[in-house]
This record gives sequence, C-alpha cells and structure tokens, in this order.
Amino acid sequence: MSKKALIIGSGLGGLSTALRLSDKGYKVTILEKHTTPGGRLNRLEMDGFTFDVGPSFMSMTYELDELFASVGMKSPVELEELEPLYQVFFRQHERPFRIFKDLKLLEKEFAGIEPNLAEKAEKYLQRAGQFWHDTEDKVVKTNFDNKLEYILKLTRVPLKHLPYLFRTMWTEVEKTFDSEEVKVIFSLVAFFLGSTPFQTPAIYSLLNYTEMRHNGYWKVKGGMYRLVVEMMKILEAKGVEIKYQTEVTGVRNSNGSVVSVVDNHGNTWDADIFISNSDAAAFRGGILKRPAFREEKLDKMHWTLAPFTFYLGVKGNIPVLEHHNYFLGDNFRGYADTIFTSEIAPQKPYYYVNVSSKSDPSCAPEGCENIFVLCPVPDLRYKKDWSDREELADNIISDLSERTGFDIRSNIICKKIMDPVDWQNAFNLYKGSGLGLAHDMDQVGAFRPKNKDEEFNNLYYVGASTTPGTGLPMVIISSRLVTERILEDHGTV
Ligand SMILES: Cc1cc2nc3c(=O)[nH]c(=O)nc-3n(C[C@H](O)[C@H](O)[C@H](O)COP(=O)(O)OP(=O)(O)OC[C@H]3O[C@@H](n4cnc5c(N)ncnc54)[C@H](O)[C@@H]3O)c2cc1C
Repeated sequence: MSKKALIIGSGLGGLSTALRLSDKGYKVTILEKHTTPGGRLNRLEMDGFTFDVGPSFMSMTYELDELFASVGMKSPVELEELEPLYQVFFRQHERPFRIFKDLKLLEKEFAGIEPNLAEKAEKYLQRAGQFWHDTEDKVVKTNFDNKLEYILKLTRVPLKHLPYLFRTMWTEVEKTFDSEEVKVIFSLVAFFLGSTPFQTPAIYSLLNYTEMRHNGYWKVKGGMYRLVVEMMKILEAKGVEIKYQTEVTGVRNSNGSVVSVVDNHGNTWDADIFISNSDAAAFRGGILKRPAFREEKLDKMHWTLAPFTFYLGVKGNIPVLEHHNYFLGDNFRGYADTIFTSEIAPQKPYYYVNVSSKSDPSCAPEGCENIFVLCPVPDLRYKKDWSDREELADNIISDLSERTGFDIRSNIICKKIMDPVDWQNAFNLYKGSGLGLAHDMDQVGAFRPKNKDEEFNNLYYVGASTTPGTGLPMVIISSRLVTERILEDHGTV
C-alpha cells in the first residue's frame, strides 16, 4: 500500500514537493488554510482585471525545468525573458533609466553619469559569478546534517571569496562604481531579499550575476499564476488531494513521530510523513511550542521587510510605465536605515510598480491597465497599527501620478489594499514578513531552521524560511532537498 504524505500548505514549496513525492508513489494530501492554492504566488481577480498578488518575475528558471524533468515532464508554462530587466525612476532625474542585461546598452543609458560602466560591471559580475559557481552546488543546493558538516563544506569554497563575507553589498558596489545612481541600481537586489544593501552581506552580489548574466529575469506568459494553475492540473491527474480553508492548528505525536495533525475544524489527519510548508521557524514556535522558537526568540531573529501592496484597475494607458518599474526617493541611505524599525508608515516611500497588462492585454479590459504597487515596510513587530493604510496608498498614488504625468486617482475603477496584517492573516506570514527569515550569515545554511525536524522523525519542512532560502527558484530547490531527505529516511513506495 502507498505511504501517505500530508503537506501543510500549498505554496510553491508545498506544490513542488507534492509533485515530486506523488511521482515516487506517495499518496499526497495537502491542507491549505487559504481559499486558493499558491500561497504568496497567488492571483486576484476584480472587475475584469487580473493581478499577480506577489511574485511578478523569477530567475534561475532552470530550476523549474529540473522540477518537471524530475517527474519526466516538460515545463507546462511558457516563459518570456525580460530585457530591459526593469526601469528605475530617480527623483533627481526627469527620465527613467532602463536596466539592460546587455552592458553596452546599459552603458549608453548611463552615459554622462558613469564612465566605462560596461567594463566596471563586467569585472563586478565576473567576480560575483565566480562566487556563485563556487558555492551553488557545494553549499546552496545541498543538505547538511549538522553545523560541522556545513562548515566543512564552506572550507571547500576558495579562500579568495573570504572578504565577501565581511563586507556589505553597499561596500562592494562603492568599490566598483562612482555614481550614486549606478551604486543604487546594483544594490537594489538586496531589497529582493527583503533587506537593504547596508545590511546584506556582499556575497549576495551573486544576485546581480544571476539577474544580469547567468539566467536573467523571466515572467510566465499569461501571468505568474499560470504556473500554479498548470501544476494543479498535473497534481490532480496524479491523485493529489487538496483541502482548502483547512488550517493545521496542532499535532499529535507518539514515540518520537507525528501521528496526525489537527485542523481548525477539529478534524484529525493521519499520515506516514508530514511536511510543513508553513513558515519553518514560526511553525516550530506556534504549533509545536518549541522553546527555541517562542515569540520572544522569533522576534529577535532577523526577518525580511513586510509588503504593503495595492492593486488598481485603471482606465487609460500610462505610456511611461513599463512592465517592471522602481520609483526611488532621494535619500537612499537614510531611507534604508530607518525602513526596518520605523513605527510610522514611510513618508516618501520607495516602491515597485508592476503593470502586466503592458505585455499581456488579457489582464485588463480594453483601454485599461492593471497596476500592482509593492512598498516594503516595517513588519508588525515595529508598526502594528495599519489604520493609516489608505493614507499611505493615497500618498503613493499622488507620487506616481506626478512622476508619470497621468492622473491615476480620477481613473481608478477598482482598488484593493493588502497591508502587513492582511499578508500575515492570509498566509500565516510571521508578523507579516514578506519573504520570511532574512539571509544573514547566521541564518543561512546549517544556521537556518532545518528541513528535518529536531524531534519527530517523520516531520519535514519546505519553503522560504528553511534551506536554502527565499524566492521562487529557492523554494523549488527546497522541495528537491526535502524530497531527498524523505526518500533517504523512508524510501520510495
Ligand atoms: C509581495 C511579494 C512579492 C514577491 N516577489 C517575488 C518575485 O518577483 N520573484 C520571486 O522569486 N519571489 C518573490 N517573492 C517571494 C516568493 O513569493 C516566496 O519566496 C515564495 O512564494 C514562498 O513560497 P513558499 O512555498 O515557501 O511559501 P508560501 O507561498 O507562503 O506558501 C505557504 C502556504 O502555506 C499555507 N499555510 C501556512 N500555515 C498553514 C497552516 N497552519 N495550515 C494550513 N496551511 C498553512 C499558507 O496559506 C500558504 O498558502 C515575493 C513575495 C512577496 C510577499
């Protein structure tokens, strides 16, 4: 008889694990607290507009190919590469700057601002690329049984990379580029890790390499959520069952194993193995009541910034906007230093704007655009009260109208805001943190919550807050690592 696997959560990490385990003969059931699958990779439909709720692009798309290849299939979604990757609006410049992978085009874009940009960027990317290739297989895509094994693996990384560990990303860009504008551009990737370049270790300049050289940025044709839709079709065909509006609230255990989990309706669900796609640190604290993960301990950990997002259906076209746009203020350092711990909403916020109707007209009615705004804000440890959410959205709408020369407010057809409380409640994100645990050196590798439980021999973890880390390609890798562990411990069926 097939062994039963129960997965708590249907984020990309949970769905990818379901795919891999069902292919190995496990009978998989997923319990999901939300009304739809996908977790943060979700979709919002309103008045004829469709929005991607969270992720709007991905890198390292070969991980997606590997996921489907591992079950003998081709990826069911079509990907489209972004070039330019995005455009950036600086307050002190009238025109936006397009960020190209092609360094010659990038140099032209910054002519008169950063001399010899292509040559400097080439050197910078080569160095970041060497680091990536020296660590990708040895450190990122591997399981560790203990800290010693992890440290031994780190010692196999060439010593020349050591300074990377002790510098911040900002120091690294400062050494390479002269203009504030280009330094800011090359350090923006720190925000993709939910942090700032002044806190993020220089090793993450490898993200510059993955975005600009290695594999670039891609979007899914038809919207990012198509990936979830297609995966659900495959999982259904493989007999995977999913129950929505079913939140796991407790576990029952015996002799060092989990026997069943209990849901919010009081039902119990038994299985041979259990995989939590719920946050790996918060689940240990909130559900398993582990002292090392109780609230005071969790609060001391370094969490990524919370998302403040809103979704606007707008009448008319805004020619100056492209698919991906960043709107920056004029005090990068000051903003970055206060953004984490401020108790008030940012007054002159930095924000990201995504308009997927630019390349996919099916996302909006004719003559209209779908605008998704993401503003990173402090998590709920610092700013708990979001009763001023309309004010912050309004502030951004005014700024965006001014900088695009288009009166957005009078053309709004529909609007939905998600503040950090909404994000927390929708997907159980700890204190609303958008990307989960941050990636400081003491929170990665063997120092990140493990993908195998410390006490229960049949409980595992997958997703952004376990190894290797956050972002769509990383949670796909996480599903591979946890599947390897499960097969090693429990075998195929
Ligand atoms: C606004 C935003 C923008 C982003 N943009 C990008 C991007 O452009 N590119 C990129 O690569 N990454 C992006 N990310 C990061 C990316 O979304 C995440 O790293 C990834 O989706 C995490 O997947 P996951 O499977 O770990 O968790 P989740 O997507 O959070 O899934 C976990 C699931 O578990 C469910 N759950 C939790 N607790 C329970 C419980 N007790 N019982 C039952 N169900 C439970 C939740 O409801 C959820 O559905 C973005 C994130 C945010 C918030």
